[in-house]
Amino acid sequence: MTQQDERRVVESVQRGLFIGGEWRAASGGAELDVIDPSTEEVLTSVADATVDDGRAALDAAVAAQASWAATAPRERGEILRAAFEKITERAEDLALLMTLEMGKPLKEAMAEITYGAEFFRWFSEEAVRIAGRWSTSPNGATRLLTMKQPVGPALMITPWNFPLAMGTRKIGPAVAAGCAMIVKPASQTPLSMLALAQILTESGLPDGVLNVVTTSHTGDVMEPLIRDPRLRKLTFTGSTPVGRKLVEQSAEGLLRVSMELGGNAPFLVFGDADLDKAVDGAMLAKMRNIGEACTAANRFIVHESVADEFSQRLAERMGALTVGRGTEDGVDVGPLIDDKQRDKVAELVQDAIDHGGRVLTGGGPTGDKGFYYSPTVLADVPSDARVFDEEIFGPVAPVTSFSTDDEALTLANDTEYGLVAYAFTTDLSRALRVSEGLETGMVGINQGVVSNPAAPFGGVKASGFGREGGAEGIEEYLETKYVGIAL
Ligand code: NAP
Repeated sequence: MTQQDERRVVESVQRGLFIGGEWRAASGGAELDVIDPSTEEVLTSVADATVDDGRAALDAAVAAQASWAATAPRERGEILRAAFEKITERAEDLALLMTLEMGKPLKEAMAEITYGAEFFRWFSEEAVRIAGRWSTSPNGATRLLTMKQPVGPALMITPWNFPLAMGTRKIGPAVAAGCAMIVKPASQTPLSMLALAQILTESGLPDGVLNVVTTSHTGDVMEPLIRDPRLRKLTFTGSTPVGRKLVEQSAEGLLRVSMELGGNAPFLVFGDADLDKAVDGAMLAKMRNIGEACTAANRFIVHESVADEFSQRLAERMGALTVGRGTEDGVDVGPLIDDKQRDKVAELVQDAIDHGGRVLTGGGPTGDKGFYYSPTVLADVPSDARVFDEEIFGPVAPVTSFSTDDEALTLANDTEYGLVAYAFTTDLSRALRVSEGLETGMVGINQGVVSNPAAPFGGVKASGFGREGGAEGIEEYLETKYVGIAL
């Protein structure tokens, strides 16, 4: 990619707020800078919304709600399908834009574009399958009609780590169900969402159905919306502390709430595992998105009979990765999102070393400019090190060992989080026993990625509640109404 390509994709994005089908500047005229984490330089700036702008976005969603809910399901589905086609046609430009604002290598940005677009294709097909039920009451006296209706205006708050897919996972089912919405992308990565709003408009989404608000005054602008009685749904993907705060705020209006929060995924390797598969799976589960994924393997819990071999082989693979600017050919690992994140990763690694962990590869920041951290493997990390308790969000793989299956499960479940777990074993009954025993919303058996638009993504415990994708995904945007009929 040339510098002209980079300028062209950045300049192609509308930088305003998208409210009621119009692009407009923030009411105070302020803008917020978007930084390229690989150079630490300003890429561009976007509108910095005020509280009044946030309210205007909700006004627009409320105004659009009734006619959108009454729009034919096929029409809603066709808009999603058209948007899926456009995203696919423009995948290269969208991937470059994402790499510039977030840092992930181009090939990973392309993978996210494909994954993100699939939610539109999946929910374009779900839009026409929303159905109810007709039954007879047990005493035979009445008939019970059950129907599904859109929840109503929804507020969607998304994180910086998957700037497109975390949005399409919410927008897809909301469009299919007939909900109008306000989307608030992360202030570090607003460009992918602004580009997506353009695509949805070109695909025929009516004015006001999707509104996008970018702001650095996030709490101040979001809280009045969450407390506004006209809002009916809050869906949030982000950190657990912010999620907890938003659940409290949403209690006032008793909103329908979905929370996709942090993770601390255990990656279990049993003594009977196929180690080639386990190392391949570990590379995916750890290094997808530079380790900045809620699904990232955070704790490698490996049977004592294979722990040394697994750690050595993982260290060889991790040490061979190329770190660099995501736009360059051959780069496997881009920068972390900012200096705060890089410093946190460095702190966790130091703490693990202080607790007796051994560095097999990596072990520190790298590069003069940009927030780079070397892919790192730490062996013999005791389970009381911070790195096992906190979300690392970086390219660091700490390994500890276990001797019995019960011990492995106890270690795996010893966390407040419960998003996903991975287990590698060739024994079917062990795989099923372990799947049942893991306190997580998702389990990957002999595979390092679980994300799939056709599957219900989500967690338990402090990883949140609600599901995105699969047949369950659209239910988050539908209410059930029952009509009793005396014949
Ligand atoms: P974050 O700090 O919680 O931010 C997420 C979003 O919430 C951003 O748009 C942010 O806006 C907004 N926000 C922050 N404070 C807010 C407030 N007081 N009121 C309303 N909105 C507020 O999380 P992050 O650092 O961007 O993302 C990383 C986290 O997301 C990790 O914990 C990761 O595990 C989690 N995640 C979970 C999933 C899942 O599906 N379970 C998927 C991806 C990521 P600003 O950008 O303006 O601060």
